[in-house]
Amino acid sequence: MQSLPRNLWFEPTNTCNAKCPLCPTGSGPLSRSPACLDIGFYKRVIDEVQPRTVHFWNYGEPFLHPHIFEMFRYAADCGAVTYASTNGFVFYKLDPALRAILAVSQPGQLWMPQRLGPFVVIVR
Ligand code: SF4
Repeated sequence: MQSLPRNLWFEPTNTCNAKCPLCPTGSGPLSRSPACLDIGFYKRVIDEVQPRTVHFWNYGEPFLHPHIFEMFRYAADCGAVTYASTNGFVFYKLDPALRAILAVSQPGQLWMPQRLGPFVVIVR
């Protein structure tokens, strides 16, 4: 078991709700068909690897995956620490209080005006 990776990165989806010009997803050249990670496959990988950390990001907005919170929960229940990178748009639409927080913490806007993030999102 010691040869298995301790840290896993998943791309929950290769779709996004932003259009960042430096990103192949946002600007268009990515030729992959839009897709979401299969939750059954995800769980099998978590079960087999038992990672210490699980990261959700790559070329897409992870919180657009319909089962993303279940994926967080599953990894946490297996003892893994979870991380995600988000542009924040999903949360921005949800909660007025969170909007106020995001309004004063938008470092991404300095260099990427299409984004609201990056942010750290704590999922309980
Ligand atoms: S938010 Fe991230 S995935 Fe979406 S277009 Fe921008 S860089 Fe790409």
